[in-house]
Amino acid sequence: MQRRTYNNILETIGNTPLVRLNRIPKGVVAADVYAKIETTNPGNSIKDRMAVKMIEDAEKAGKLKPGGTIIEGTSGNTGMGLAIAAVVKGYKCVFTTTDKQSKEKVDALRAFGAEVIVCPTDVDPEDPRSYYSVSSRLERDTPNSWKANQYDNPSNAQAHYEQTGPEIWEQTEGKVDHLVVGVGTGGTICGVAKYLKERRPSVKAWGIDTYGSVFKKYKETGVFDKNEIYPYITEGIGEDFLPQNVDFSLIDHFEKVTDRDAAIMTGRIAREEGIFAGNSAGSAMAGLIQLADRFEKGETVVVVFHDHGTRYLGKMYNPDWMREKGFLDPKGLTARDLVVNRLKAPLATIDRNETVEKAAHILTENAYSQIPVTSDGRLMGTVNEGHLYSAIVKNPEVLKGPVEAIMQPALPFADISTSVDALAAMLTPDSPAVLVRDFKLDATYIITRWDIIKALS
Ligand code: PMP
Repeated sequence: MQRRTYNNILETIGNTPLVRLNRIPKGVVAADVYAKIETTNPGNSIKDRMAVKMIEDAEKAGKLKPGGTIIEGTSGNTGMGLAIAAVVKGYKCVFTTTDKQSKEKVDALRAFGAEVIVCPTDVDPEDPRSYYSVSSRLERDTPNSWKANQYDNPSNAQAHYEQTGPEIWEQTEGKVDHLVVGVGTGGTICGVAKYLKERRPSVKAWGIDTYGSVFKKYKETGVFDKNEIYPYITEGIGEDFLPQNVDFSLIDHFEKVTDRDAAIMTGRIAREEGIFAGNSAGSAMAGLIQLADRFEKGETVVVVFHDHGTRYLGKMYNPDWMREKGFLDPKGLTARDLVVNRLKAPLATIDRNETVEKAAHILTENAYSQIPVTSDGRLMGTVNEGHLYSAIVKNPEVLKGPVEAIMQPALPFADISTSVDALAAMLTPDSPAVLVRDFKLDATYIITRWDIIKALS
C-alpha cells in the first residue's frame, strides 16, 4: 500500500474531473461536450488555482511578506481561494465586494476569518465608493499589505496556462477542438486558450459574455462603449472595464447570454446532468447551445463550470427568486405586453451635467414623471417630479445647477419577460418606475405606475 495523504489543503487544488454532458446537448449539439467541473477544489471554485499562484508569485517577488495582509476586490470566489491560502500560510485578509453578490459568498469568506467590506455595485469603477477604489485605498493605508489585483495580475492567467490548460489537454488526449468559458478577469479563458492553441493552433476559444458588459463590442469593433454597460444579474462574468488578463487575440468570439437564459440553464444543469454548478456555468452552457451550429460532429467541446451551486441557493435555485425576477414562465401579463405597442423611440435620458432647469422642461413638456440620468451614456441616477419639486421649492437656485446634485439612485432594471405582478412589487415611493430591458433587441423601456394601473384595469 502507498501512503496517499496531503500535507495541507492547498495540495488538493486542481486535477478536477472532465465529465461528459449527456442530456442537455443531446439533439442540439452534434459534437461531444465535456464539462471541466471545478467545484471539487477546496474553495469549490476554479479560483483556488490562481489565488495560490498569485500569493506564491508575490512571496517570491518579495511583495507579500510574513504576517502581511492580503487585500482584494473580489466577487467571492477569488476571495475564498485567497482566504484558504491565507489560513494555511498565516496571512490576514481584507476583501471588498459588491452588494450584488450572494450573501452566502460573503458569509463564506467571513467563515475563514477574512474581513469583508460590501460596496455599492452601480457606480463607476473610478468612483471612490466602488469596490475597486476602496481596495486600492486599503492597500495604501494598511502597513505590510499586498493587493492581489486579479484583473491585471499576470499570475492569474499563468495559473491556468500551467494547470487547467494541461489538464484539459491530457484528459482529452489532445483531442480538444473548442473551449467555451465565461469571461470575468479573463484569466481562465486566456491561460487555457494560450496553452491549448500552442499545442494545437486550430483550437477555438469562445468567450461567454453578459448583456451589460463591454467585452463583445470591444472585441468586434475595438470600441470601449460605455453605452453597453447596464446592471445585470449574472454573477462572475462580464465587466465594465477591460482587465489586462483579457487578451482579446486569444479569444475567437464572444457570445452574449441573457440573465434569464443563464439562470434557467443553471437549474437545468443540476436537474438534467446531476451537476450542482454555479450561475456562470449556466451562462457558459446557454452560450454553448446558442453556438451549437459552430460545433461539428466528431469534435470535442470543453466547457468550464467555474463554481458550485450552493452559493446560489437563494437565487437561481430558489423558485420564488426566479419568479420575482421574471425568469420562470410568468402567469398573466408581462412587461413585454405593456410595451408591445410602444414606438421604438429611444429612452429619454438627461446627462448628469445638464441643468435642473432642462430636466424640469423635459418633464413638463412630455408629461413625464421621471427621467433617467446618464454619465457618458451610462445610466447612473434618476430625477423624479416629486423630488425635483421639493428641491426647487426649498432652494430655487438649484435650477441653474446640474441634475446630478438632486438626483435619486438609478431606477431598478428588469427583464422584458418579468410578470406585471413582479413589476408592481418593484415600484415604491422612492422608485416609482422601473426600466425594462429587451436584451435581444437592445431596447430599454420605462414602465411607470400608470402603465401598471392601465394594464390591471
Ligand atoms: N465564474 C465565476 C463564478 C467567477 O467567480 C469568475 C471570476 N470572476 C468567472 C466565472 C470568470 O473567470 P475569469 O475571472 O477567470 O475570467
